[in-house]
Amino acid sequence: MANTSELAVCGVNDHEDEGNEFMTVNKVAKKDRHKICYKCRDINQKLIILFRNEAYCKTCYIDLIRKKFKPNLAKCRDASRPSRESENVVIALSGGTSSNVMLELIYQNTTNAQKSKLFFKGNCVYIDESSIYPNLKKDDIEVYLKKQCNLYGYPLTIIPLENIFGDNPENREHRVKMLKESVESFSSQTSREDISIFYREQLLRKCALELKAKRVIFGTSSVSLATKVFSLASKGRGFTLPNEVSISNQTEVGGDSIIFNQPMKEFILKEIYIYSRNVIGDLPTQFSSWNAPAKQSLNTLCEDFVHTLQDISSQTVYTLLRSADKLVTPTLDNNFYCSLCYCHLSTHDINHINSIKNVKSTNSNNNNNNNNCCSDNSSCSTTSTTNNSCCSTNNNNNQLSNDTLCYSCRILVKENRNPNLVLPKYIYENSKSILTTAQLKNEIKDFLLDDNDD
Ligand SMILES: [Zn+2]
Ligand SMILES: [Zn+2]
Repeated sequence: MANTSELAVCGVNDHEDEGNEFMTVNKVAKKDRHKICYKCRDINQKLIILFRNEAYCKTCYIDLIRKKFKPNLAKCRDASRPSRESENVVIALSGGTSSNVMLELIYQNTTNAQKSKLFFKGNCVYIDESSIYPNLKKDDIEVYLKKQCNLYGYPLTIIPLENIFGDNPENREHRVKMLKESVESFSSQTSREDISIFYREQLLRKCALELKAKRVIFGTSSVSLATKVFSLASKGRGFTLPNEVSISNQTEVGGDSIIFNQPMKEFILKEIYIYSRNVIGDLPTQFSSWNAPAKQSLNTLCEDFVHTLQDISSQTVYTLLRSADKLVTPTLDNNFYCSLCYCHLSTHDINHINSIKNVKSTNSNNNNNNNNCCSDNSSCSTTSTTNNSCCSTNNNNNQLSNDTLCYSCRILVKENRNPNLVLPKYIYENSKSILTTAQLKNEIKDFLLDDNDD
């Protein structure tokens, strides 16, 4: 996600964060200000980095970034745990600069820290999306990630995106086909990108549960989060926006609580790139949406917009995120979440589900997804006996009720052009479980009311 304007400057004309602690007038003569490290004042240090209007030697800059990251990482810990007990976490890697820098920073603050280190047991997970993004330099990224994880001593799990349709090694090609179909049947590029993000998050959620981890740590930088503020609002996701751009976002589904953490929230791209260049070195060439034209989708358009604003005023990203922090999502009910994207449902949607008297009648309203993937018997005949195949669910289970989707996902599903589309099993299961729970509750409620009447 290299933005040249952010990369090129570490210069004197950079007025980022004017007025903060680093702007204190110091005793060094003005002409020498950029020749001596602002922090250690060591004249013998070779100055390398001009940042926030001040000069830092390499050592002081690295120290500054590590110290800045630590309190954010500390927020990604379960406060109720004893501080020396390691917490099992999933570190989601994308192969990009931000997540690589995050990995190094986590390592520094946990394993390598001399004093007051944080206790984490990291498990790195990379979701390989090359089956839908052929431009992705999959092999380069995987080789690089394996090398880095080895270096830091974290185990690495690579999960292909098609595993959203099960993980039976025998039917991989069939799963790739299903994944492509399920992504390509949406008419807009925005929806295609969004659905692949939901699948990626679901795989990470599932992987975290298997690894007995309660949280997934993402390396999303402040710029990406600021982009999210715009894109979520324009996609009708304003309701859950405050959660999705916060450092910590918890979803609880069927008693399984998973927290998504974004400790890189405070870091702008410039800080990340300077650190990466000085500490990590060369990264593999990344597929990024920056290679795509701005008008490709709503997501890329918002990204382009944020970068343009940031070029005009360097405070844009901070202002946007600070404004988003002031928003509050209304009280959330953990029993009601979107079957597709796992965001909380609004009170209006919940009331609607609670008002449904007969679950079966709602399911039959939706004839889009009643089709079994086995209509084409030849492709599935080998897999029909395994639990993980798409066909293990019978016809009755492949039903998705629009009532259990959030506003934005209802719009997304409407865009589907393929009447025989089969979505991953988890979506149907979620939908069914939400409706059943709601109905059971309703029945109990009726019973209790009758009881009180007596
Ligand atoms: Zn220094
Ligand atoms: Zn949704």
